[in-house]
Amino acid sequence: MSGIWISSEEVAGVGMDIARMRGESLVRLVWRGEKAHISAYLPSLIDLVEKEKPSAVIFPSQVDLNDLAAGLASALNCPFISGCIKVAADETGLEAQRHIYGGAAVQVVRSDAWPVVLTLVGGERVELEGVEIKEVFPVSQTAVKVLERKVKESANRPITEAKVVISIGRGFKRREDIVLVKDLAARLSGEIGCTRPIASELHWLPESVCIGLSGVQVSPDLYLALGISGQVQHVVGIRGARVIVAVNQDEKAPIFGVADFGIVGDLYNFIPLFLEALKGTR
Ligand SMILES: Cc1cc2nc3c(=O)[nH]c(=O)nc-3n(C[C@H](O)[C@H](O)[C@H](O)COP(=O)(O)OP(=O)(O)OC[C@H]3O[C@@H](n4cnc5c(N)ncnc54)[C@H](O)[C@@H]3O)c2cc1C
Repeated sequence: MSGIWISSEEVAGVGMDIARMRGESLVRLVWRGEKAHISAYLPSLIDLVEKEKPSAVIFPSQVDLNDLAAGLASALNCPFISGCIKVAADETGLEAQRHIYGGAAVQVVRSDAWPVVLTLVGGERVELEGVEIKEVFPVSQTAVKVLERKVKESANRPITEAKVVISIGRGFKRREDIVLVKDLAARLSGEIGCTRPIASELHWLPESVCIGLSGVQVSPDLYLALGISGQVQHVVGIRGARVIVAVNQDEKAPIFGVADFGIVGDLYNFIPLFLEALKGTR
């Protein structure tokens, strides 16, 4: 058995750690086939893995890739650990951490069998120069065909890399009010994030800036939460923030339990006052 296979740079950090621990090489999978749906690659991926016997195959945790990973593990009849937030390999196997109970607890899972299939939440991008490439082609017809691809609306700069994140929740009454936050973001050179209802229910901001369990995890120097209640599914996405400031009119809002600084008040009063206070500062 050899090689740690990764399906993208996003999971390269973990792939590299496992490869180093086991003294194996890192291999990058490349999908070929312009209009193929990801599920179409499964048969050729299974063939390739059965032939070349990698020790681990690692995917980023995304809806279609989760299905592919599960299908691969099922075909290989090997361990599959989904939604890992941390993975550490040792002499015999590996230990992974994953959120359970909607992010309220962390489960530690151990696997001492190889090969293993993993999906990873978050992950660390690593430059992949000199890494061996394996190509996977779709070889069979699936019921799903890609008719068109549209580029997803995305933030200017990946929110995961921002030093300042200003995040909005349902405390905002109207979509037009987001302009207030845009002013603030421009003043603080920050990026705008949001809670799930703002992205998935109201569609005021793209899903790519939804922070939390089903969104992205951020680790800015400053996280400013405006009108956010602070449910655990949101808070798991901001645990890496250095300083959390929350503005909420409900003094009992759970966000104050994780905030370093809490302001009990109306965000519509706070934003203009804060902008005013920032005037004249660098
Ligand atoms: C499986 C699962 C996954 C989930 N994943 C995520 C996720 O990834 N990210 C996420 O964010 N959520 C997620 N959720 C949803 C989560 O549970 C909460 O429902 C959501 O985070 C609440 O969003 P909110 O804080 O914007 O809204 P609310 O909970 O409605 O809170 C709004 C807050 O605004 C305050 N407010 C109202 N008006 C004002 C004002 N004028 N000034 C100041 N404060 C004001 C209120 O006091 C309140 O605390 C998930 C849920 C489930 C079940």
